Amino acid sequence: MNNRSDTSSTLVRLDEYRAPAWRVSQVELTFDLGIDTTEVTSRLHLQRDPAQDAPLRLDGEGLELLSISLDGQALDERAWRYVDNVLEVDDARDGSVLETRVCLRPAANTALEGLYLSGPRERGFLLTQCEAEGFRHITFFPDRPDVLASYKVTLCADRDRFPVLLAGGNPDGHGELEGGRHWARFVDPHPKPSYLFALVAGRLQKIERDYVTSSGRAVKLVIWAEPDAIGQCGYAMDALERSMRWDEDTYGREYDLDVFHVVATHDFNMGAMENKGLNIFNAKYLLADPDSSTDDEYRAVEAVVAHEYFHNWSGNRVTCRDWFQLSLKEGLTVFREQQFSADMNSSALKRIEDVALLRRAQFPEDAGPLAHPVRPAQYSEINNFYTATVYEKGSELVRMVAGRLGREGFRRGMDRYFARNDGRAATLEDFLGALGDANGIDLMPYLAWYAQAGTPRLSARGHYDAAHRTYTLTLSQHTPPTPHQSHKQPLPIPVKLGLFDRAGGMLPLHLTADSAETSGATERVVVLDRAEQVFVFQQVNDAPVPSLLRGFSAPVILECTYEPADLALLLRHDPDGFNRWEAGQQLAARAYDNLREGDGTGALDAWCEALEALFNDSAMDEALLADLLTPPGEIELAERERQVDPSHVHALRQQLQEQLALRIGQQALQRRYEALVSHTSVQLDARSQARRRLKRRVLELLARIDPWTAHAQATLQYDNAPSMTDRLAALSVLVRGNASQAHAALAHFRERYADNPLAMDKWFSVQTQLPGELVIERVHALEGDAAFTLKNPNRVNSLFGAWARNNPDGFHRTDGSGYQLLAERLTQLDALNPQIAARMATAFNGWQRLEPSRRALARTAIESVAAHVGLSRNLNEIVQSMLHG
Ligand SMILES: [Zn+2]
Repeated sequence: MNNRSDTSSTLVRLDEYRAPAWRVSQVELTFDLGIDTTEVTSRLHLQRDPAQDAPLRLDGEGLELLSISLDGQALDERAWRYVDNVLEVDDARDGSVLETRVCLRPAANTALEGLYLSGPRERGFLLTQCEAEGFRHITFFPDRPDVLASYKVTLCADRDRFPVLLAGGNPDGHGELEGGRHWARFVDPHPKPSYLFALVAGRLQKIERDYVTSSGRAVKLVIWAEPDAIGQCGYAMDALERSMRWDEDTYGREYDLDVFHVVATHDFNMGAMENKGLNIFNAKYLLADPDSSTDDEYRAVEAVVAHEYFHNWSGNRVTCRDWFQLSLKEGLTVFREQQFSADMNSSALKRIEDVALLRRAQFPEDAGPLAHPVRPAQYSEINNFYTATVYEKGSELVRMVAGRLGREGFRRGMDRYFARNDGRAATLEDFLGALGDANGIDLMPYLAWYAQAGTPRLSARGHYDAAHRTYTLTLSQHTPPTPHQSHKQPLPIPVKLGLFDRAGGMLPLHLTADSAETSGATERVVVLDRAEQVFVFQQVNDAPVPSLLRGFSAPVILECTYEPADLALLLRHDPDGFNRWEAGQQLAARAYDNLREGDGTGALDAWCEALEALFNDSAMDEALLADLLTPPGEIELAERERQVDPSHVHALRQQLQEQLALRIGQQALQRRYEALVSHTSVQLDARSQARRRLKRRVLELLARIDPWTAHAQATLQYDNAPSMTDRLAALSVLVRGNASQAHAALAHFRERYADNPLAMDKWFSVQTQLPGELVIERVHALEGDAAFTLKNPNRVNSLFGAWARNNPDGFHRTDGSGYQLLAERLTQLDALNPQIAARMATAFNGWQRLEPSRRALARTAIESVAAHVGLSRNLNEIVQSMLHG
């Protein structure tokens, strides 16, 4: 099987949507499973739309058709055609049953879409991945999300080779067959789209837990993994139980089958997949233990387990009408997952993490050649739209609406949405309509956010009138043009705000238009829904310090003429941890401007001084302090440049940290580090995690001004580390500092974790963080390591992804050799796995804003990919957009 197609592929357009002419009420599938060949027999119970007069056309890619019959009669060759991935059958009628038998070749499937083999052929297992359009690689079907059917699936296989047989739905019998073979059947009573189909077969072990839903339904929770990994599944099981309870308490949503299976695989294109009753996870997001997982990875496991579980309602029970509505399930489910993580951990830290991700991953996407609306108007390859825009910006849009309705109003709206659309394939209009109707509010103006690409710029100007004691705030918005969308309209932008006095206290707000009961609160939301609007606050006794866009109330870039002293005041006094961090980020960006422009040190001084005070404040939350001490990343800072020189951005950011470290002082950093080391533990509670986080940050700052001491300490920390968090932090400091001790530590790590794929991924990725010019030789050397393979997506990401995305200085070499290397690997990777190649190619995003000489070299490299004969539709769409977007 492969994913090739000619590059003249047609675009799919939202405005050309038509309801399916043929539906399927019931699917009966029988799999005769084998590693090299698998036979699939399918019986489809067809329903015809009487209003449409179209022949029966089914999707099918790379299928070897063995037999075909209609209503029990073998079909003559003239009665069907299989051309260009479509099977057309004559004479089908409403109520017909179409039976096809096809042959698949799982072991030869390197694209990891459809049915494939995970692991080596002697002991690996078979599994499927069908979202978005993988089911057509398994059998003929109207492979679109608005065709919902019930599934009866029978798996037959050799008992020794495939002792465990799993499919979605409830178990419905199993037994023995001749010749050492056995069978198992599963029935899913809930109609579902084909992208939620899944099966797993192989030698797997399990852990189990009994769960009872709040209405008393008994559910068996089972997590499956290969024998060497089953001991690392306990944390995911706990996270699953927490997720189920949370969705019952928060949204009143219960699980609806008798059994919930989760399976871990090391070979997976995505993070995880919410197949009904049979979730399949990239092992990276399921396995966890202190010896091989960091604190960040524990939190990611909890979040992804929750995300996939929450899809059972937001995605599975209510699914998407078409793939343009992808954010209906993804944006909504990311939002639910973020709420859950905030409730389980710290809401301020969670918001910081989410906003930092949005700025690092989504803002650059929205500003570059791949910019697209949360609901795209057209696509060539849907797999290219599993993007930060659809997921993370999509979540921000749900958050804006939820903020508008309040917690109770949002719950009321969600109840209405689920009740109205249960068992249906819905649209974003259905979503906003249900939420609005339940609250008597018209939310349709928010649809414009889904249709318009680009990050809006929000400008704010304040004016204080001492004579009238008024503060006038003028807000205006502007969205720069994006590819294929030059004209932009104003959007509804909720701006949560507060006003501070000069002592850092929050002032009561009296807006001219206020009624008596809304007047006097210290924080409120105003909505800017025109190009420009003026808001006048009364009874303001002194020139206030505004705090705007609190909680990041809209996904915009705020342009505000804050004075550095104002930001420093917010950084020190704002009672909300997120807003405090936000003020610090803005101040750090100004400090960066100081260094770049050489135009004074006002912001730099204010930033360093405020952070020094917080560093020495014993009441400070340690995790928040670690985040406050971290300036915006290089990708974000590069957005401030007209022409980007990544080496220069890197050098300035290093200087920024050096200035901060000098201000806090070597001795103070040293004392703090030693105090934190004395509390070392492997516990996962918030306090212990916070200490590890701060310890890492302090060590990094120390390395900026006293590398000799810091490297000695990092070596000790590496040797004595009780957990991966501490060990990897130490290793990272040694590698980034190009310390002489790094070599021995890396060799030790390599040997100790040789049999642990997830730890080995970290061994690869930490080395891609070598400074600047040194890294490309290392990347070449690592490619030659016996543990490297282009066939495993996690391994590819841990080397090429980590290098090209997280080390801009090391990727954007002035001689263009970084671009060349990536371009060569992209075409090799594309021949194996088009989805991963296309995703990797987005590392070139932003190339048009590079300084002229790098820009020319990057263009040449991207053109060399585009010129390659036989590119997949996936990679072709990305490089064409890069060049012509
Ligand atoms: Zn999802």
